[in-house]
Amino acid sequence: MQDDKQTSLLHRAVEFWKQSRFPIAFTGAGISVASGIPDFRSPGGLWSKYDPMKVATGEALRTNPQAVWEFLMETADLLQSSEPNSGHFALAKLEEEHGLQGVITQNVDNLHQRAGSKEVVEYHGNFERFYCQKCGEKEESERVQEKVKETIPPYCDKCYSFIRPDVVFFGEAIPAYAMQKSRELTRKADLILIMGTSGEVSPANTIPREVKMNGGKIIEINKGMTYYHDISDIRFDNPAEDILPQLVHFLSQ
Ligand SMILES: [Zn+2]
Repeated sequence: MQDDKQTSLLHRAVEFWKQSRFPIAFTGAGISVASGIPDFRSPGGLWSKYDPMKVATGEALRTNPQAVWEFLMETADLLQSSEPNSGHFALAKLEEEHGLQGVITQNVDNLHQRAGSKEVVEYHGNFERFYCQKCGEKEESERVQEKVKETIPPYCDKCYSFIRPDVVFFGEAIPAYAMQKSRELTRKADLILIMGTSGEVSPANTIPREVKMNGGKIIEINKGMTYYHDISDIRFDNPAEDILPQLVHFLSQ
C-alpha cells in the first residue's frame, strides 16, 4: 500500500517537474545524515556535546579561539570522513539532465559540489575554505591542516591574527553574494524541492514560502513533520536518498 502511495506521489512530482520552467532545490543537514554527518541539532549531534554559543559565534572566536578550534577540528574530522550519498548524486543529475537551476544549501560540508552539482548557493558558507579573521587573507585548506598540527588556533602568516573557516557562525550575517544569488533563484523559481531541512533556521527558512507566495509549487522530501508540511503541494515522508534517485529514474523514462 505504502509503495502504491509513493509511486503515485512520484508520478505527480514528475508532472510538476515537467510543467516547471525554473525548478530549484533547497537542502539542509538531513540530506547529509546518510553520508555519516549527524544533524548538529539532533540527539547525538555536535550540539549535544558542545554549546554553540561557546564554540560557534563570532564572539567566541574573538574571546576563546582555542575552544572554537577544538570544536572545528572535531567537525573537520567528521566532514573529511564523509562521502556524498545517492541524494547528492541525484541532485547533480537533476541539474545535468533535467533542468534543475540551482541548489540553495544550508550545509557547509561541500558534498553537493563533490557530487557534481554546479550551481550551488552556499547560504552558510563552506567548511573547506578558510580566511584570516583580521586581514581577510585566504588560506588553503591543506595549509590549515598542517598549521593545526603545530598550534591551535592557526595563525595568519601576514598579520598573525586567527584563521577562521568561511562559514556563518551564529549571530553572523549571511554572505552578501549568497544572499543575492539565493534571492535571484528564489524569485525566478516556479518549483522548489525541499529536503533535509525542518525549517527552523532563519532567515533561510523563508525561501520556500517565498516561492509559494510567487505562485510556485513545493515538493517536500522530509522524514517527519516540518515547518513546511502545511504549504507543501507534494510531501514524501522519506529521506532524500530514498526518493531523489527514484524521481530521477521516473524523469528519465
Ligand atoms: Zn591576517
